[in-house]
Amino acid sequence: MTIDFRSDTVTQPTKGMLDAMMKANVGDDVFGEDPSINELETYAASLFSMEEGLFCPSGTMTNQIAIKCHTQPGDEVICDESAHVYQYEGGGIAFNAGASVKLLSGDRGRITAEQVAESINADDNHKAHTSLVCLENTSNRGGGSCYDFDEIKKIRKVCTDNKLALHLDGARLFNALVAKKETPKQYGEIFDSISICLSKSLGCPVGSILLGKKDFIKKARRVRKVFGGGMRQAGFLAAAGIYALKNHVSRLAEDHTHARLIAEALSKKDFVMNLLPVETNIILFTTAAPYTAKSVVQRMKENNIIGYAIAATKVRMVTHLDIRPEMVQRTIETIKHL
Ligand SMILES: *Cc1c(COP(=O)(O)O)cnc(C)c1O
Repeated sequence: MTIDFRSDTVTQPTKGMLDAMMKANVGDDVFGEDPSINELETYAASLFSMEEGLFCPSGTMTNQIAIKCHTQPGDEVICDESAHVYQYEGGGIAFNAGASVKLLSGDRGRITAEQVAESINADDNHKAHTSLVCLENTSNRGGGSCYDFDEIKKIRKVCTDNKLALHLDGARLFNALVAKKETPKQYGEIFDSISICLSKSLGCPVGSILLGKKDFIKKARRVRKVFGGGMRQAGFLAAAGIYALKNHVSRLAEDHTHARLIAEALSKKDFVMNLLPVETNIILFTTAAPYTAKSVVQRMKENNIIGYAIAATKVRMVTHLDIRPEMVQRTIETIKHL
């Protein structure tokens, strides 16, 4: 048996989720006639006290639609240098929105209100027009780090004072909510748009939701069509999403405990350097010479544990729905003997 820690995207749908999918009522969503998608969008929006939701195939698409809707070509977007929207979306900010990016050097993926304020371009013809700030919570490259909500409030104020839109890449927002005992409504009140992924820690096969005001979602729905993301009887996927939002959120605490236990075992090993604090379900460490990420991942693999070399000397391990307590025990025992 191999234990796969590469990502929380490797999960299989659970029995309950598959049953919900099989029973879904569906219709043509491009005509707005899929009852399961309509239910998912309404339910997600109500969880966050936001006006409307839009179901999309991926988190890359929800982020890119949001960026396109909040900016004009030539505008500038502010985000952390490690942000998914910049690093892992194929240059989409430039390709889809024609916007440029101001990268900030945050703390484990988290930027501050002060940094944002300093990086807004002056109202000057020479400068790109700053129009959007993107935050990521939890931060993927930050090792699953969570924002301090007070800092988000301060960033909101800077955005309001300077007429900037504020978007949240919440691919793993539910991990942050569970870890910090926060509520979706707190986030819904403060952001202009939020993207959440159903296919990450929530265990769905496909899907992300973009949330925002009515006018914003109307525009987003149009952009989704332009990006080729209009789907037909996708209610089978939405049914999985509804099931996940109702059944797979509070259990995330278990993934967080598992990640902490594994990190504790790793922290005692000589091949591990600079292990980032484990706040949620992501473990990220630098390998100490002469070891490399590749050699460490290879050694683990020989013992049926699959990690992910995300850089020459960086290894990531992610806990998820399909990692059971006995697998964590076996992983810890294996790490002890590596
Ligand atoms: C995974 C991820 C996304 C979106 O990914 P898709 O694979 O396109 O669904 C966006 N932001 C972050 C931080 C992610 O980890």
